[in-house]
Amino acid sequence: MQYNAAGLLKDDVGARRNFAFENEEIMTPGENFRHVAGVVRLLRTDRGILAQTEVHGLTHDLCSRCLGDAEVEVEAYLEEEFYPTNYFEGFTERDGDNGGGIDDPALLINEDNILDMREPVRQAFVSVKPLAPVCRDGCKGLCPTCSADLNEEACQCSPQEEIPEWAKSLRSIEIK
Ligand SMILES: [Zn+2]
Ligand SMILES: [Zn+2]
Repeated sequence: MQYNAAGLLKDDVGARRNFAFENEEIMTPGENFRHVAGVVRLLRTDRGILAQTEVHGLTHDLCSRCLGDAEVEVEAYLEEEFYPTNYFEGFTERDGDNGGGIDDPALLINEDNILDMREPVRQAFVSVKPLAPVCRDGCKGLCPTCSADLNEEACQCSPQEEIPEWAKSLRSIEIK
């Protein structure tokens, strides 16, 4: 997910490059994403490099129904402008720079001209992670009474598969 942008930074505004990566990992204390793969289109701008990235990967979470392990696919599209570290050198406060530096250090190309997609991709993955992941289609979840995993067994306390009266009456309503 890292790209040496030395060549592109020397190019004229409008120059383009592509790079791709696959089977990479993003490991942080909070999350880990595996099998991360993507394609990045780079465009030299007057201030830095615009990166348009399509990326996907896998992560794990707790199933929102049975609390078992759920493998979750994540997919994101990012469009970020990266800036060379030395772009902001030489600006004094009086010069300003139309808004004062950039807020996100993840968008700096380092002194060795390495453009690093890992942190922006991690942020994008976190924002697209499903709020209620499931371990499989149709996970039956846990019995609310005895906490049995209903995928494994039908517990004794829930023979109330009977349809309540109010629901029966709904059934008889025909929608025309
Ligand atoms: Zn589940
Ligand atoms: Zn039960």
